[in-house]
Amino acid sequence: MALAILISSLAMTLIVGLRYLAASGAFALATRLRHPGLYAGLDRQVRREIGWSLASAAIYGIPAGVVAWGWQNHGWTRVYSDIAAWPLWYLPLSVLLYLCAHDAWFYWTHRLMHRPRWFRIAHAVHHASRPPTAWAAMSFHPVEALTGAIVIPLLVFLIPIHVGALGLVLTIMTLMGVTNHMGWEIFPRFMHSGPLGGWLITASHHQRHHQLYGCNYGLYFRFWDRLCGTDKGLGDFAHRGRGAVPRAAPRSDAARQP
Ligand SMILES: [Zn+2]
Ligand SMILES: [Zn+2]
Repeated sequence: MALAILISSLAMTLIVGLRYLAASGAFALATRLRHPGLYAGLDRQVRREIGWSLASAAIYGIPAGVVAWGWQNHGWTRVYSDIAAWPLWYLPLSVLLYLCAHDAWFYWTHRLMHRPRWFRIAHAVHHASRPPTAWAAMSFHPVEALTGAIVIPLLVFLIPIHVGALGLVLTIMTLMGVTNHMGWEIFPRFMHSGPLGGWLITASHHQRHHQLYGCNYGLYFRFWDRLCGTDKGLGDFAHRGRGAVPRAAPRSDAARQP
């Protein structure tokens, strides 16, 4: 039994690690084609981002592996594979419920991570990327990775979801994690500006978090930031045009986090 759990955890670690390398690699390539030179001079930072991200992959993989083993062998969790088990309208609703729950968890743990003590212990690793690149998607200190690693494995015990819809949730999670750090906006205007953009988080929103620290804490939605008065609007990438070498934020920025 212990061996089966170990194998499941290793398999999950491998899947999360390869998924990270594939997604970040693809968007880093897109960045190179679309904005050549945007990551120039950041080789050392990119290597560090990849190192932390692969360590996070193991931390994400272990609880996921244990839960996946329990699901397969003991019917743990409320993940279902019979599409008729719940009405069809529940499919999109379940995806939205997962995204909202994850977003709320992320917002509050992220705010905690910005308390001076936690920032020093853990979150400074993520903010050491100045500016972040597509490789920073999972660049977290192990303590912070742990707070992220337990969300989905806990939610699957609480909220019923079809296994395919869960796959979609994980895909959205990966996609947004990478694109939010990429250094340019890939999504169409309506998704970050205008009425819908007022509620959705894309790179334009998260880059301002990396620039100013004490604001824009959310993951997918601007709901909590707007409710708690921590939304400072969208940043722009104007100073980082085609071929431009990105400017690292001045060192003094580190002192500005609360
Ligand atoms: Zn970030
Ligand atoms: Zn932060």
